[in-house]
Amino acid sequence: MPTIIATWNFGIKAVETGWKVLSNEGSALDAVEAGIREVENDLSIHSVGLGGYPNIEGVVELDAAIMDGSTLSAGSVAAVRNVRHPITLARKVMENTSHVMIVGEGATKLAKIFGLYVEEVKLQQDVKLEWEKFKESLSLSSKPNSLELLSKALSKQIVHDTIGCVAIDKFGRIAAGTSTSGLKFKLTGRVGDSPIVGSGLFANSFGGATATGLGENIMIHNLSRLVVERISEGLSAREAVKVEIERITKNGKRFNELAVIALDKNELFGAASTFDKFEFVVMSDSMKRPTTFKLERKHTFVAF
Ligand code: ASP
Repeated sequence: MPTIIATWNFGIKAVETGWKVLSNEGSALDAVEAGIREVENDLSIHSVGLGGYPNIEGVVELDAAIMDGSTLSAGSVAAVRNVRHPITLARKVMENTSHVMIVGEGATKLAKIFGLYVEEVKLQQDVKLEWEKFKESLSLSSKPNSLELLSKALSKQIVHDTIGCVAIDKFGRIAAGTSTSGLKFKLTGRVGDSPIVGSGLFANSFGGATATGLGENIMIHNLSRLVVERISEGLSAREAVKVEIERITKNGKRFNELAVIALDKNELFGAASTFDKFEFVVMSDSMKRPTTFKLERKHTFVAF
């Protein structure tokens, strides 16, 4: 019985599209890629794809990764510019190269080869206005170019969100994928957890997970790998997310602004978060339509 799960309310697009693939006996990998592409296509979503918030210099830099749990293969791209579908570029890295992660100029070259390169990227009008305002607020202050000042200003910009998607297909194969423009107005070259295998995503033959939230915290914990490890040891996806988010929260270090969704080989799903609010979307054979679940509890872990 196929199942698909995705982060945030825009995850509905990924789930609807991915579900079409799964219900036509398509693979989990195809479902995840197709679903994420749909979110990347929507320029009104400002945390994924070319409609996303730019870095501090006004350039959109994107991170994405995909992992096939049935073969333990993964592909990933980070801080890529002028790429329409970073999730597809990540899949190309996985399937057409002998590497896992490609960044910078090399990623741009690959994007050109695979027809994913976009010559000109224009910021969305509302995004551009916000960025200009932010820049203006920086230069109004006394030390406009100091890195310290910049870091302070950026630490207040904790606006983000990643499309993370995990699917299991008819044959029990599990895949996971992520795509994001990362933190709003981040420093140029900043890479979050999303394209890092083990942090932003992980999948094997027992389960899959993706994370969203403050990448700097998620990375330290290697959140997705931890959750899938628990699933591999026999916990359900729901138990696994609960155990890990609870442990991280109790430990009291770097637990803010993180969330994880997971799926296990028995098609059970789970999500837990330390956000004030977190939403995720699920579709499976036992549901009539994609369902959005809301986790609402302040500063503590919650698990579905
Ligand atoms: N984790 C992403 C990053 O830090 C952003 C997010 O998922 O909210 O780039």
